[in-house]
This record gives sequence, structure tokens and C-alpha cells, in this order.
Amino acid sequence: MAQQFVASRKLFEEARKYIPGGVNSPVRAFGAVGGEPLFIKQGKGCRIWDEDNNEFIDYVLSFGPLILGHAHPEVTSSLRSALDKGTSFGAPTRWESTLARMICEAIPSMDMVRFVNSGTEAVMSAIRLARAFTHRDKVVKFAGGYHGSSDGLLAHAGSGATALPDSQGVPSSYIQHTLVAPYNDLSYVESLLKAYPEEVAAIIVEPVAANMGIILPQPKFLPGLKELARRSGALLIFDEVVTGFRLAYGSVQTLYHVSPDLICLGKVIGGGLPVGAYGGRREIMEMVAPSGPVYQAGTLSGNPLAMSAGITTLKILQEPGVYQKLEEMASHLTRGLSKEAREADVPVFLSRAGSMLTVFFTDQEVTDYETARSSDLKLYASYFHHLLNEGIYLPPSQFEAQFLSLAHGEDEIEITLRAARKAFREL
Ligand SMILES: *Cc1c(COP(=O)(O)O)cnc(C)c1O
Repeated sequence: MAQQFVASRKLFEEARKYIPGGVNSPVRAFGAVGGEPLFIKQGKGCRIWDEDNNEFIDYVLSFGPLILGHAHPEVTSSLRSALDKGTSFGAPTRWESTLARMICEAIPSMDMVRFVNSGTEAVMSAIRLARAFTHRDKVVKFAGGYHGSSDGLLAHAGSGATALPDSQGVPSSYIQHTLVAPYNDLSYVESLLKAYPEEVAAIIVEPVAANMGIILPQPKFLPGLKELARRSGALLIFDEVVTGFRLAYGSVQTLYHVSPDLICLGKVIGGGLPVGAYGGRREIMEMVAPSGPVYQAGTLSGNPLAMSAGITTLKILQEPGVYQKLEEMASHLTRGLSKEAREADVPVFLSRAGSMLTVFFTDQEVTDYETARSSDLKLYASYFHHLLNEGIYLPPSQFEAQFLSLAHGEDEIEITLRAARKAFREL
């Protein structure tokens, strides 16, 4: 099927007049794969429709939040009833405590949680809190790890231990306290902690990396980080904005048996509405204003619409077998993709955690940002466009995860595998 993108092209032209690059978040612009973004007018279940009425099976799912698929009837009906009661009060509502209790009950290490409006804000606030709690300034992050677009974390490794800004407009003084280590490299982290004794406030990590493509933590990595943090007096922060309630009901700590001091959440817990959250041990969280001296606030934080979409989403995720179903479908898809690539003689490295996966176009094993970057980005772009033309909507970058939802079924997996077979052979 040859897709026509006439309406999208026109809308993009219009958008670019008023919005930088025509988009409100850079990866949406298709810069990494070439071509122009599709303007989406509707979604239902695992499918989306663009403004030209092309239909796609969606594996982006708003970059992770939509674990139930688009416009889930229970989520939309809870939103409708919340909407009728007003959209924001700037005063506490019962919905906030309900979602907070559900989250704390699901995550053993989380006694208290504070809601914000995005993952970026959650991480920014958690770092402020870690600094206040430890009376230290430095933060260790990992190359290729994404923690939102706040100044202090838009940094990559320079020569030696000095970080360099990832963006113009970030003063080097804002990242002088940011240290960058390779993912999965415990001895590097250990050397940083030795080089800056009693200066590191926190180690922040995506416990399963999802923003350089999916990269799994090696078995010793997370327990090792916990031990290094403990010994050096730093806090361990899991940035679970994408993994929280995506890989298991709650935190990945239940899968990896490592409990961090603080956890950042977002995406799934808002059921597709803007949300973020950070939480952890009571003694740390009680330092947040107004119970403590760490200031953090938000006009729309704990917004009733986001709270009700989140509550409904989590309730559905509590049903038995939900994560098992996601696991089985994603495993079927991954095995199929692997087979098709092999039969077409296209070297790929498939990386999967639960219902998120990445097809890296490389013959190397991908364990960190360095090895992820060995991927052939032109080949990914070509694969992306082949599948788009077959009605499969993949993430528009090699370094973004492909997500499944409970709305995907075996039929969609088969359609996707057929399209992938054709794509791999034509690459
Ligand atoms: C998406 C994401 C963020 C940022 O969340 P926003 O809601 O986009 O600000 C932070 N950390 C991780 C791991 C993410 O995947």
C-alpha cells in the first residue's frame, strides 16, 4: 500500500510557521529518519489514523504512556466524569491521595510520593531533594541515559570526568556537578566516587535504559550501584519514568530486587495525560515543602484529570495476567523479528524488556551508549520508512523504544512480522 501524506505535509508547513520545527518535542519531527512527521487525528486501541486517513498499528504509544492503547473506554469514561466536575482547583482533591496510595502500595521502597506535571520535573525535583538530604552537590548519570530536559542533566561525558552541555544555553557552571559514566560500568562509577569522596549526592539511572534504545542492566549492575551508593553515602535514584508500571505493576525493583532511595515516575501513571511523580523513603520525602525545607511547587500538579486517568489505568493493570500477556506478545514479536532479520541476512541486535524493545541495526552486542551507537542509522531509517509504508508506525529514531500495549493482539503481531520480513529483504 503506497501511503499518501498530503494533509500531513500541509499541516506541517503550517505548524512550522508558528512552532519551532513544527513540533513540541524534537524527536516527533522525524529528523533522525528523514521525511516529514505525520499529523495524527485519532487513535483507538493499538491503531492510529493520520490526517490523510492512513491507518497504522502504533508502536510509539505516545513514547510509552499508553500501555492500555489509545482511548481505552474506561479511561475516557473516567476522564469524562472528572471533566464535568471541573479541571483544576489549586486545592487538594481525594483523587491525589487515591493515586498516591495506589503507587505507594505497589512500590515497596516508596512511603510517600509527590505529583508533578512531567518526568522532567520529577527528576529535577528528586535531584534537588537528594542534594538537600545529603548536603552534597554532585550527581552521577550515565551516558545515553535521558532524564528529561532540565539544565543539569543535559550533559554528556567530556574528556576525563568533566561533563559537557548537550545543548546550547546550558552554562557549563550548571553541569559542573554532573558526572557521566558508561552504562553497565560499575568500576567507572566506583572511580568517580573515589575521585569525589563525600561529594556525590546521587547516582541517577534508568534501571532498564530506554532512551538509547532498550539496554538491559547486566546482572551485577543495579545491585552494584546500590552498594556503591550505600558505601559512599550517595542516594540511588531510579528514573522509572518509562519503566514504572510498564515492566511490572510498580517499580522494576520487584524484578531486580534492588530498592533505590528515590524513584521518579511519569508516563504510564498518567494514563496518557501530563504527569510525573517522585517518591521514596519517608525521612527523605518529609524534607519536601511544606513539611520540610526543599521547595517544589506546581499550579497544575496532581491535576484531577491526570489523576483519574492514572487511577483507572492502574486499576486495569492490577487485573491478573496483564503483564504476562504483554510479555508473551512482545516475546513473540521479538522472536519473529529476529528470525526474519536472520533469514534476510540483516545483522541486528534485539533488545527487549517486557513490552518494550529495540531492533539495533548492528552486529555488536549492545550494552551501553557506545555500542548502541555502532548501529547503522541509515538502515534503521530505511526500515522505519518501509514499515511506515506498510502501515506500521515505529519510533522515528534508532534510539527510542518500540512499545506494545494491551490493545495489541496476535493479529497485529502477524501483520507486523509480515511487513518486517518484506522490509528486511528489501533493505
Ligand atoms: C520520558 C522520560 C523522561 C522525561 O519525561 P517528560 O514527561 O517527557 O518530561 C525522563 N526520564 C525518562 C527515563 C524518560 O523516559
